[in-house]
Amino acid sequence: MSVAVRFAPSPTGLLHVGNVRLALVNWLFARKAGGNFLLRLDDTDEERSKPEYAEGIERDLTWLGLTWDRFARESDRYGRYDEVAAALKASGRLYPCYETPEELNLKRASLVSQGRPPIYDRAALRLGDADRARLESEGRKPHWRFKLEHTPVEWTDLVRGPVHFEGTALSDPVLIREDGRPLYTLTSVVDDADLAITHVIRGEDHVANTAVQIQIFEAVGGAVPVFAHLPLLTDAAGQGLSKRLGSLSVASLREEEGIEPMALASLLAKLGTSDAIEPRLTLDELVAEFDIAKVSRATPKFDPEELLRLNARILHLLPFERVSGELAALGLAEADAAFWEAVRPNLSRVAEARDWWAVTYAPVAPVADDPAFLAEAAALLPEEPWDLSTWGTWTGAVKAKTGRKGKDLFLPLRRALTGRDHGPELKNLLPLIGRTRAQKRLAGETA
Ligand code: GLU
Repeated sequence: MSVAVRFAPSPTGLLHVGNVRLALVNWLFARKAGGNFLLRLDDTDEERSKPEYAEGIERDLTWLGLTWDRFARESDRYGRYDEVAAALKASGRLYPCYETPEELNLKRASLVSQGRPPIYDRAALRLGDADRARLESEGRKPHWRFKLEHTPVEWTDLVRGPVHFEGTALSDPVLIREDGRPLYTLTSVVDDADLAITHVIRGEDHVANTAVQIQIFEAVGGAVPVFAHLPLLTDAAGQGLSKRLGSLSVASLREEEGIEPMALASLLAKLGTSDAIEPRLTLDELVAEFDIAKVSRATPKFDPEELLRLNARILHLLPFERVSGELAALGLAEADAAFWEAVRPNLSRVAEARDWWAVTYAPVAPVADDPAFLAEAAALLPEEPWDLSTWGTWTGAVKAKTGRKGKDLFLPLRRALTGRDHGPELKNLLPLIGRTRAQKRLAGETA
């Protein structure tokens, strides 16, 4: 049996760190097992599903490198859902109900006020043909509920271990809306069964759905997959991330925060596991390290500051070839490996390379507060060609000539050459600044 998993987002909004973590874990699980990864768009909610969100999901996954082997869209499969629903109606597992949302609310409120769980009372099962005919003649249209077996439901969850639900503790779920549209609880099972999904890895907000869906798998004759429910990410205070979804969307991390795909992947692959979070430059390394048994039941905390720190560590390691496209997109098409290697230790985000580009190549107003010293230093500048040894040779000569050392030697040179007190190592930057510009800046000229 070959492993098959799926990531099944609803295209009703932007992917955020919580969703994309589930995509990543599914993808890593598939790659580790040599299995396949399906991207399925759960788009049966036609009012809320939007093509731009579907495109956004594909863009975000592609950016992270999470390629899919198979693709499905639920809105292409209504015929199949109708067929399954008809079979379930014929076998009596789907039954028509006529309560309005207001009536259901009243029932729930009354149960809750008696201290009882708000489980549907199955009143519709007691209707006779004449009752149904009367309700329909009043213009009511049925929605359809799945009749659960009142037996225990059990599974061994790859994260939670043995899970047990009593069928009597669950409400018969609505699978077909009044307008005939099938709902997620059904469509997901039909797809998982038809597409031979072997492992369903999703958030722990779906645990109760799983209890219900296991019975639906059995009713439709599908093989019940193995389940893994991951604890959902929270913020540092332990709150769900839902309030900050906009700022924690993958699109905003990429476009506004300047986060590298491997920074996000390195963090999300390890958050809530027994592995330490370390920068990784390839998904292959994460695949090699992945094991779902390392996922803990404790609530993982997502900290945007930790992501930014990891982003910096990734940038400090990334070779030029991996960022040349991004640099070109920032308008730095002329940047080369020497420039990248000079500035990357000073970056938390690639976009900051623009500042160092300007410091290196654009006219810089130098800070020349010790002109006599700078003139002596300028006179000692070696002839070109310059390389990584030039800075050492030159400052050695300046030190010997002036007797200055340490900060007294280096800070005035840095301030004159870059206009700033801090920045990339001048050993790396000086050859890029070049002799002409260096001489002018040491003379206090903007160059
Ligand atoms: N579309 C569902 C969601 O986004 C999928 C859940 C599942 O993995 O079954 O919550």
